[in-house]
Amino acid sequence: MFARAPEHRNIVVLGSTGSIGTQTLDVVRQNPERLSIVGLAVNSSVQTVCAQAREFGVPHVAVGTKLSADEMAHVRASLEGVAEAACGPDAVLELCRMPEVDLVVNALVGAAGLRASYEALRAGKVLALANKESLVVGGDLLIPMSTHETLLPIDSEHGAIYQCLLGENPDEVVRLWVTASGGPFRGKTRADLAGVTVAQALNHPTWKMGLKITIDSATLMNKGLEVIEAHHLFAMPYEKIEVVVQPQSAIHSMVEFSDGSVKAHLGTTDMRIPIQFALSYPERWHAPVQPLDFRQLGSLEFAAPDTQTFRCLALARAAGSRGGTLPAAMNAANEVAVATFLAGNCPFLSIADAVEAAMDACDVQPVESLEQLEEVDARARAAAAAYLERLR
Ligand code: MG
Repeated sequence: MFARAPEHRNIVVLGSTGSIGTQTLDVVRQNPERLSIVGLAVNSSVQTVCAQAREFGVPHVAVGTKLSADEMAHVRASLEGVAEAACGPDAVLELCRMPEVDLVVNALVGAAGLRASYEALRAGKVLALANKESLVVGGDLLIPMSTHETLLPIDSEHGAIYQCLLGENPDEVVRLWVTASGGPFRGKTRADLAGVTVAQALNHPTWKMGLKITIDSATLMNKGLEVIEAHHLFAMPYEKIEVVVQPQSAIHSMVEFSDGSVKAHLGTTDMRIPIQFALSYPERWHAPVQPLDFRQLGSLEFAAPDTQTFRCLALARAAGSRGGTLPAAMNAANEVAVATFLAGNCPFLSIADAVEAAMDACDVQPVESLEQLEEVDARARAAAAAYLERLR
């Protein structure tokens, strides 16, 4: 039924110093006989990646930011006898193309991860995808290049749906239920949210994650991005994808079938579980995670998301349903607005307004190429920045 997992996998980790990256390294630490890291890439965390390369004996390191000759000499000295190092965006892509690589973990942040996803699939690697923006922006390009066996989601909801669908006929699926914790502002009104601080928005109730995704969770944009991600990954129309708030984050998502049966995937909120599944598939390996104790869990709550207050979810769904280049514009505007909010330069509620302004300004076209998507991305960033600038 399933292809057998190769005995040993050579993996590359893009974004190795972020939240998903460091947890991926944890999974490798637990499974040294099954996994070897042959490449590490970071945006700019040079010291940390050098330490990681030394710990895991990684032969290739790439730094996405262009470093000066002096800085590169320092990196090379630090990796002497361990690894080769290179810098610049092409150095990151080069790791994806190395012949010895079996699987690429893409944990880069934002639309910047799209090109790496594209190169990994083009080079025939298995892509373990934590960078959901790749699919939001370029799903129309990536999906035709991938199969069920070569594109594995690391997002917990999508990992859950993927597992619920194993052995099932997709034609018998009635609905995908994507669960949401509701974020730190669940139950709040727009008036409550007008003056919230960055620290309040970063205080996620159930998951510990990077900055950008934590703000996206507070606005529910993360769930909007995940609806688009699910649409692409599972070839489901948007009418068949529903979001349900599940504050305990114990149910990671559900699939409803035509006979009324519903399959749910549960587990503790530990991202090493979905990460390891993407690396071990089609096998399951032992993992030293905290088991989910149902006697302590007590109860599970469910609620409809409040899309009047959390407009980003509705905007993302609208962008996905319209399709073409609109999700790319929506995503780019969101990245700009989130960065602006994190810098303390715009109110929380303006994130959705900036996204909407950039969507309104987008001339929606069918997706044709990476270059076209990069142009759309740049134009939407400018539109969102201009909108936010006018607020100041
Ligand atoms: Mg998720």
